[in-house]
Formats: sequence, C-alpha cells, structure tokens
Amino acid sequence: MDADVAVVGVGTMGSMTCWQLARRGASVIGFEQFAPGHDRSGAGGETRIFRTAYHEGAEYVPLLLTAQDQWRELEAETGRSVLTLNGGLMIGPPDGALVRSVLAGAAAHDLPHELLDEHEARRRYPQHRLEPGEVMVLDPQAGFLRPELAVSLAGMRAEELGAVIVRHRPVVAVEPDADGVTIRTAERRWRVGQVVLAAGAWSNRLLPRHTPPLTVQRLVMTWFVARHPSWFDVERFPIFIRETGAHDVSGWPSLDGAYVKVAVNYGYDRVDDPDRLERGVDDGLLVTIRTAVRDLLPDLVPEPVRIGAYMDGYTDDRHAVVGRPDGLPNTVVATGFSGHGFKMAPAIGRAAADLVLRGRTALPIGHLDPARPAAASPARLRTVAADLAATARTS
Ligand SMILES: Cc1cc2nc3c(=O)[nH]c(=O)nc-3n(C[C@H](O)[C@H](O)[C@H](O)COP(=O)(O)OP(=O)(O)OC[C@H]3O[C@@H](n4cnc5c(N)ncnc54)[C@H](O)[C@@H]3O)c2cc1C
Repeated sequence: MDADVAVVGVGTMGSMTCWQLARRGASVIGFEQFAPGHDRSGAGGETRIFRTAYHEGAEYVPLLLTAQDQWRELEAETGRSVLTLNGGLMIGPPDGALVRSVLAGAAAHDLPHELLDEHEARRRYPQHRLEPGEVMVLDPQAGFLRPELAVSLAGMRAEELGAVIVRHRPVVAVEPDADGVTIRTAERRWRVGQVVLAAGAWSNRLLPRHTPPLTVQRLVMTWFVARHPSWFDVERFPIFIRETGAHDVSGWPSLDGAYVKVAVNYGYDRVDDPDRLERGVDDGLLVTIRTAVRDLLPDLVPEPVRIGAYMDGYTDDRHAVVGRPDGLPNTVVATGFSGHGFKMAPAIGRAAADLVLRGRTALPIGHLDPARPAAASPARLRTVAADLAATARTS
C-alpha cells in the first residue's frame, strides 16, 4: 500500500480533507492536476462569502458553525488569517425569498441579526442605492474567506503533518475493489486503502456511473474602481447579497484599497468541458454587469477593470453530495457544492475524514447523502439543466 487514503483533487474540499486526515494520523496522498491554491476552478477570485444565517436551508447552520471553528483552527495551526467576519448584508424587499429565508434561519437557530428598514439602511450603508421599500438584514457573523490562500495553507499544513501531495499530475483512473483502491496517473499506479473523490467540476469523469451527474456552471466575477475607495474598506463595507426584481448580485469589500469585487448573477453558462473554461465575456454580458453596478452601487465606476471566470459543479437540488455512494467499496465522495460550498469546506473535510476513519460522522450531513433521490435523478437533471442556467447562484 502506498497510503491509507488517497484524495483525488486537492482543491477546496480535497485540501481540507488532506489536512483533517493528516492531523488525525492517517497516511494520505493527495493528487492535484494543478497545484493547491490555483484559480482555475471553484476556488479562484480572492474572496468567498462566509455566513451562518443561511437562506439555502436552516439544516446547514450546525455545519457552518463547525466550519467556523475549523477555519479558526486552520488559522491557529498556520499562523495566517483566512476568515474575516466584517458582517454581511442580505438586501431585498421584505417579502422577498432572500430576506424571508434569512430571517427564518436566524430565528430558528437564535442567530444574532439586525433588520434595517429602508431609512436606516440608507443612512448606514450609503454605498448601496436602494429601491423604495427595500430592507437589509445585517448578519454580524458573516464575512469573507481568502480561498486560494486557505486551500494552499490546508495543503501545506497537511504536508507538515506527513501527507504527500502529488502536484501537476491528473489522475486518469480510480478503480475501487473489495481490498482497496488503485489510482492511476499517466506515470504510475498507486495502491491505497480508501479514496476520497473531491474533483469538483471534473467529477463527472471519475466513476460517472456511481455518482450523480453534475452540471458544471461558469461564474464570472468583476472588479471595479471606487470613486471613494475608503467607503469600501473592510470595516465599512460588509459583504452583501442582493436580490431586486431586476438584478441579483453579491459583493465584497476592497482588499487592497483599489478595487471592489462584484458578482452579477447573469444566469451563468454551462461548461461542457472543464478543461476549456471560457475566461472572457461577450458584449451582452458586459452590458448586464455594467447596468447592475451602475444601478445598485453608484460610487463604483461601472466599467470592470478585471474579469475572472471560475466554475463549480451543480446538483439537481443544489445540495452537495457527500458520503459513500452505493456499490462503490472504499470510496467517499465530496462534490457538487453548487456555488455555495467554500464556507463549509473544513467541516466537509472533517466529515470526509470521519467517514474514512470511522465509517460514520456525527456532523449533520444527511441532506447531502449521495443516495437521496433529488441528487441522483439524471432524467430530471436533463430537464432542469436549462432552468438551472437561469437560477444557479453563488455564495
Ligand atoms: C465564482 C464563484 C464564487 C463562489 N462564491 C462562493 C461564496 O461566496 N461562498 C461560498 O461558500 N461558496 C462560493 N462558491 C462555491 C465554492 O467556491 C465551491 O463550491 C467550492 O470551491 C467547490 O469545491 P470543490 O472542492 O468541489 O472544487 P475545487 O475547489 O474546484 O476542487 C476540485 C479540484 O480537483 C482537481 N482535480 C479535478 N480532477 C482531477 C484529476 N483527475 N486529478 C487531479 N486533480 C483533479 C481540480 O484541479 C481542483 O483543484 C463560489 C464558486 C464560484 C465558482
């Protein structure tokens, strides 16, 4: 045996899984086709939203609170900062889905939050141009993560603890059997006891018959110059998610005092081949982005100075797939994070390590079970693919 466990894909979930396994004494080999911390798939673009008042489902809250602790442990073990809790604003009409679900989640789990009416919201956060009647929910436990840094640090920490990370080597085959798993790269064959598959947008290529198919979506992020840069400092400008009738956007404070990042949900594009992610934008998308920024954030010059394109794998029901797929011995999957997985990554790594080392986890991941019908319905997936393009979101 080359190791107890192989982790295929040392991206967001794979790096955290390597770290969580290594700190518990398992021998681990991680395989990454690029290098941990690269920006070519799910983890690029400098920042990711962290929040615990979760409109995707109150069942995530305990997992997110665990993740928050685990982010702090990663920081303590590496001496670096990856999570900044500068607050989060959920902005929209009071009867809209975003505001209603955030308030419901906060109430169900007794999370601190503040509801700002239109007047108070305008007074405290003049960076946003509000529509009449819009409100803000301020979540003081929200903020942002540094994705490339976090993935690099988790990989480096795993190596310090004894893990081996094989960089710039794509895995070409994963072959589980009753006694272990064979992993093949172009150069050689590796033999391990168990495997964790965390290949993100490439997941459909590995064991496609046993894992629910993912639809890969391209997501574009854009950076803008502010007229008054200090208004967008970390201390003054919480991360935000905003739904108006016309626009659906999210944004982050300026990290460098120069640029402010905004992501406009334009419906996203389907990626047929993750090796050929289109990184440019066409004129129609540029107009959509400029219009949203001009209408909602008047202090930003609405011409993007930087554009980045990334991708993520989406399941049918937009919940990830984490667990042991039926019929596959010695295999754990962690994939399909559907545009909102980064914040929970170290908790997912911990759950994957539990499944490998103990066969079960106390973390609440029942809603991510690979066998749940909504995740594993390829026929329905085909019918929702077009609709998904219009409604997939990030954060
Ligand atoms: C633009 C954008 C914005 C987002 N915003 C947020 C946000 O604000 N908050 C939030 O919580 N989430 C957000 N998300 C979602 C989150 O970033 C993703 O859900 C998460 O990063 C996915 O992690 P992953 O491990 O599945 O994929 P990845 O991080 O992409 O990791 C998969 C890794 O597997 C490697 N790999 C694949 N195939 C092979 C192979 N054959 N051999 C070796 N290596 C392989 C890849 O190179 C990659 O490194 C966003 C996503 C995007 C794209």
